[in-house]
Parts: sequence; C-alpha cells; structure tokens
Amino acid sequence: MSIRELLFGPGRDWLSHTLSTAEHASSEQVVVLDDGTGLQLQDSGLLYLEPPSGRSNPNSESLIVSAGVHGNETAPIEVLNNLLNELMDGKWQLACPVLLILGNPPAMGANARFIDVNLNRLFGGAHRKPEYRGLPEAERAWSLERACEAFASRHPANLCHYDLHTAIRPSLREKFALYPFVEGRNIPASQIDFLLEADVDTLLLQHREGTTFASFSSTTLGAESFTVELGKVRPFGENDLGRFSGIANALRRRMKGEKPPQGSKPSDGITIFEVVHEILNTGDSFRFHVPDDVANFTLFDPGTVIWEDDTTCYRVGDRPEGIVFPNRHVPVGQRVGLMIRQRT
Ligand SMILES: [Zn+2]
Repeated sequence: MSIRELLFGPGRDWLSHTLSTAEHASSEQVVVLDDGTGLQLQDSGLLYLEPPSGRSNPNSESLIVSAGVHGNETAPIEVLNNLLNELMDGKWQLACPVLLILGNPPAMGANARFIDVNLNRLFGGAHRKPEYRGLPEAERAWSLERACEAFASRHPANLCHYDLHTAIRPSLREKFALYPFVEGRNIPASQIDFLLEADVDTLLLQHREGTTFASFSSTTLGAESFTVELGKVRPFGENDLGRFSGIANALRRRMKGEKPPQGSKPSDGITIFEVVHEILNTGDSFRFHVPDDVANFTLFDPGTVIWEDDTTCYRVGDRPEGIVFPNRHVPVGQRVGLMIRQRT
C-alpha cells in the first residue's frame, strides 16, 4: 500500500479524503515518507508536515498555509493538494515544518462559502460569542486556533501564515494581499518580495485588528500573516491552475528551503494601499451611493459622495480613493465597505 493510501485510504488523496470525512475528525496517525519526512493527519483537513531531524532548514522558518476557509474557493485548495501530492510522490524534499489546512471541509463538500456562519469572522476568540454557540464553524475556528498554537509553540522561529482565497466579486486588481493590523509593526521587505514572487502585486494594509484567520495568527502567534486573494471563485475541476502557478511555485520554493530567486521584481513593483475610512451601516437614514456590482479597487474622484445619512456625508478627500469589499446588505453597525488610498 502506498504512503498516500496509508494516510488517506484507497484511491484517495488529501482533498478527496477531506471531502469524504468532512463530518468527523481523522485519527492522529503518523506516516513517514522514504526520506524520513513525517506526515500527521491531525484532523479532517489538518495536516502537519515535519522534515526528518537533522535536515537543514536554510531559511530557518516554519509555515502555516491554509485554503478553503471559504469552502467554495477551490483553486487554492487544489494548489495545496497538488503540492502535497508532489511531496508524497518524492518529487521534492521538505526543508521546514509546515501546517497545511483546509479550513472548512463541510462547506467544501457543499460547494458553499460557509454552512452557518462565515468562518473567517470567528477567529481571535470571536467563536466564543454566544450567537455562535454550538455552530460547527465556531468549533472549527476553535480547533484551528488550537492546532496553530501547538504548531507555533513547537516552531516559534520565523513563523509565516498565508491564508489563500479567491473572490466572488470582480476586482480591478486580480491578485492582492491583506496585511493584518498589529500596532507598531512594518511589513518586512522579504514578505513583499515573496508576494511579488507569487504574482501578488497589490497590498492592502489593514487599519485595525480583525477576526480573520490571518489576524489571529498575526496577533496571537506573532506570525507574518497575509490573507491572499488570488482570483475568481470556480467549482472544483474548473480552475485554470496556470493562473495560480505564481503562488504554487513560490510556496514550493519556500517548502523546499530554497533561497528567493535573484534579480526578480523590485520591491517597488508592489502597489500599497491603506485604509482611510471604514463605512458602517448607520441605520434607517443610511444611503450608500456605490453600485452593488462595483469591482474591488474601483477608484472615485475627489469630492465624490460615497455615503450619507441625516447627519453625515462622506466625500472622497483631495486624492482619489478606492473601495474594497462593498456590501450594503449588512445589519446596522456592521461594515459596508472600506475606502482605501494608495500610499505615497
Ligand atoms: Zn475567501
């Protein structure tokens, strides 16, 4: 029996195993590849990879890589599954500890963004709120936090987390990353180089702590973390994985412990945006003047009225501002969108 079948069952790989066991946890079995690399299936969609002791880790780092936190965002799930198949087939060797995560297996099985509640709003302890009690997604957020904490305490040095997504909404910038807000920190140049290596040429700096998976790993684990948006949502098997080769190649290079490619794109090849205003639904008199179908990163001229209510009118300031994640259909008090501006 092959290692793959030993770990995932006859005829299965990690993805098909995760889809088939979405409702219950897996055993904590450890299998070892011919070269000594250990693989531990800690739970459905939760796989710990450890290089053999004694192998050097040239970049002295540890990686958490997640996909499928939104279950219908299939391309990054297929990217991770393919990388794992390559590793298990002996096509390359692992240099650093890696925690691979498929975030929401039941939603993946249902080809849905989520089942009961958006998993990517439940981290940083938000899963403990009374309104989420008993929901499988709250339980999953809790168990993913525990798994990441255990991984981080075992491998605290240079921990990085990339949470990979694709989007439903069109975007004028196809690939972009969100850098969670942590008081007083600046983004390292090496991380910008990595994003460019992965064909991600737009970065949005967040302005306050959130409850996303990447916010949790930044704030609680001290990781360099990013939510990475890689393109459009499509069903399993319908993705053109050629459009995702940048992230696949960059992650494979990191897992192999190779140095970054020399003479690649200069760091100023990235466009950095910062948040200038968070639009909230202020209640009955709230009027939002951005059309429902506007693409992310659509820019508005200075003076454009974006929203108003009976006491406030928000106009674009003296430089153009863009919008990301617009959604007017949110309860009072919640976020309708973010206004952003290119950093000068
Ligand atoms: Zn997503």
